[in-house]
Amino acid sequence: MKYVSTRGRAPVLSFDDALLAGLAADGGLYVPEAWPQLSKAEIQALRGISYDELTARVCRPFLSGGATEAAFPDLARDAFSRFDHPAVAPLRQIGPGLWLLELFHGPTLSFKDYALQLVGRLFDTVLAERDRRVTVIGATSGDTGSAAIEALKDRERIEAFILHPKGRVSEVQRRQMTTVAANNIHNVAVEGTFDDCQDLVKAMFNDAQFRARTDLTAVNSINWARVMVQVVYYFAAAVALGAPQQPVTFAVPTGNFGNVLAGWVARRMGLPVTGFVVASNRNDILTRFYSEGEMRLQPVQPTLSPSMDIQISSNFERLLFELYGRRGELLARAMDRFRKRGRVRFGAERWRRFHKLFTGHALDDAETVAVIRQIYETTGELLDPHTAIGLAAGIARHDVRKGPLIAVATAHPAKFPDAVEKATGIRPRLPSRLADLYAREERLTTLPNELGRIEDFIVHRLNERAAA
Ligand SMILES: *Cc1c(COP(=O)(O)O)cnc(C)c1O
Repeated sequence: MKYVSTRGRAPVLSFDDALLAGLAADGGLYVPEAWPQLSKAEIQALRGISYDELTARVCRPFLSGGATEAAFPDLARDAFSRFDHPAVAPLRQIGPGLWLLELFHGPTLSFKDYALQLVGRLFDTVLAERDRRVTVIGATSGDTGSAAIEALKDRERIEAFILHPKGRVSEVQRRQMTTVAANNIHNVAVEGTFDDCQDLVKAMFNDAQFRARTDLTAVNSINWARVMVQVVYYFAAAVALGAPQQPVTFAVPTGNFGNVLAGWVARRMGLPVTGFVVASNRNDILTRFYSEGEMRLQPVQPTLSPSMDIQISSNFERLLFELYGRRGELLARAMDRFRKRGRVRFGAERWRRFHKLFTGHALDDAETVAVIRQIYETTGELLDPHTAIGLAAGIARHDVRKGPLIAVATAHPAKFPDAVEKATGIRPRLPSRLADLYAREERLTTLPNELGRIEDFIVHRLNERAAA
């Protein structure tokens, strides 16, 4: 499989090269040059197999031709052995036709672990084969950072710099990042928002000199490999509920659009999915796009669901690429307009096609708290705020008499204990392996939202590490 950029001007790469590159050189995102297809019989045959085996089968066509292809099944087995549920991604029924897909059984309690545990191992494999080292730079609204750090800590060929918006991640999220005692991990608290962090990362990638000096790469959800690994649990869930005969609907709490895009990829590969409910908090650019047809930036507002405090959903570009008939030049121009003016329309026909499959729905903090309380009172389940938003949006927009609704549970409630306690009076407990989180020592550097200062810091640290 070869990979092409959504903006049409970057070199075509193999899977392994796209893995190391992260963002494409033309500012676009890598996507497979064609979507592999699974037949009904092949989907049927996925029933009852282990999650490792499912991962190998779903991902195999995306890997062909890379050095990682042979190692992949073992890497998947090893990665998912660190998850603390035998089903890895279990479904839990919470009402008639209503299911939660629990994606918080990994080491750092969010769905980001599913992709990053495997992607960390894929990096290792490619770097060892090529005798290379890289610097990973990532921006996080909270959960990517801890999942990336847990996946990359102590990997010999990787230095990882993780930027988070100072004071805008939960204490559990921050501590999960800053208490990892590994010398190759560098936490930076940026005086700004998540979008500022994401802009800084993009600017570093666009700084050719800096990029060459540091062998930069990204593990943000712009990295194709992450999306690919997330496709697997959409297959797992739908097959468990009767795919390919029974179509399902997914409700997905959305920030960067990576998770819901993976669901769309599963559908594109042949999985019968009726539609996707794209759920947002007050940072509702996608919901507004759904209702108005215009993508329009607004300032980021902090909410109880910080992992969705995002205005620019990077992965949306991968869907747009399809809506633009894979014409990268056209899309590049539209994205340029968006950058310059903070607003863009993609045309009525593309909007109509978006509508056929996606619905947008947003909740504010008060509604989020009310949903957490109501679900607790009616089912006894404690939901994290992101999951609550997804579930409520799904219920608001989908009639379960038309087929099952699967709400994607993206984080464990104990990651956001304040919101859960506010709603229910109950403070969810961390799993025992994280019980001493509040006693561990934190390591982080606070820096202003200035590209030069952050690049200097990174170069300085890399020199220190090379000398050590
Ligand atoms: C990252 C994250 C999201 C948003 O996922 P995207 O792939 O960025 O759309 C939602 N909920 C939680 C808990 C997250 O960590």
